[in-house]
Amino acid sequence: MKTWNEIASNQPIATRILTNMIERNRLSHAYLIQGQKGTGKKAVSILLAKSFFCKNQIGSEPCHSCKDCVRIDSGNHPDVHHIAPEGASIKKEQIAHLQKEFTYTGLESNQKVYIITEADKMTTNAANRLLKFLEEPSKKTAAILTTENAHAILDTIRSRCQLIALRPLNTNQLELALIEKGLSKENARLFTVLTNDLQAALALDQDDWFAQARKLMVQLIEMLQTNIEEALLFIQKQWLLHFSDREQLKIGLDMLLYWYKDVMYLHIDENDQLVFLSYRENIEKSAMYWSKQDTTAILYAIMEARRHLEQNVHPTLVMEKLTLQMQR
Ligand SMILES: [Zn+2]
Repeated sequence: MKTWNEIASNQPIATRILTNMIERNRLSHAYLIQGQKGTGKKAVSILLAKSFFCKNQIGSEPCHSCKDCVRIDSGNHPDVHHIAPEGASIKKEQIAHLQKEFTYTGLESNQKVYIITEADKMTTNAANRLLKFLEEPSKKTAAILTTENAHAILDTIRSRCQLIALRPLNTNQLELALIEKGLSKENARLFTVLTNDLQAALALDQDDWFAQARKLMVQLIEMLQTNIEEALLFIQKQWLLHFSDREQLKIGLDMLLYWYKDVMYLHIDENDQLVFLSYRENIEKSAMYWSKQDTTAILYAIMEARRHLEQNVHPTLVMEKLTLQMQR
């Protein structure tokens, strides 16, 4: 359960728009809430639903403790209906069922609210059926649609809804959201910088390929500090086999980039910025081995390698050149 106040810290604009409407008693009969995963779509739709029912609101804030609020929180309110994809899509029958339910007046008041999550997953038939429903708005019926991509929704539906755009999470919020999901601080930080996307970050956390990739990167760094010949061989025999396509190699280069950024952070005493927290000793070794100047040159070389990769230079060439540039 979240309050408008809590939502406001991440979504100040959307919160202001909605709480203004609530306070002026000007709630719309259809909302389309758009935002990436983790931006608060569900929390906002629950708060909106409460504002249609709660009789103890203070300003725009529902009480969160009356019978209506409690049942909306638990998903058991008889006049608040939830629709989500069944399998891959939201089907016509689901919308038809909803319409049928709504022909009866509300069980406890005349108000009814339906929440359609991942509304972009509606089949064309379902969307057309919903459209008819939206075209005959009744004062006592409200629709709340949520989606990650409002453009994937029929224009005719979109134009009948008030669009509420939730802004993407900033990196600190994403990091905290990942820690809340049970990731270590290091992984939360690393996956935030690598993906800047909650879902992609959660996927990386479960990915054996990625766990192995990180080990290989640490091995490569150690070899660079001891034996360059071995490092070149390692690139050919192991690195390029594991990072076997361009997308994977980009992740490899990004990890190297953040490693050397960590080395730089140690050089300039910005220790609280470190990403590879559990490799602190290794990074200290790297900082002993590569001077601040070396590190700057390597950071440039990695960024250049990444550019070359985008320009379709052969991955083997990109990695061999970079390995040589990383020699002290
Ligand atoms: Zn209440």
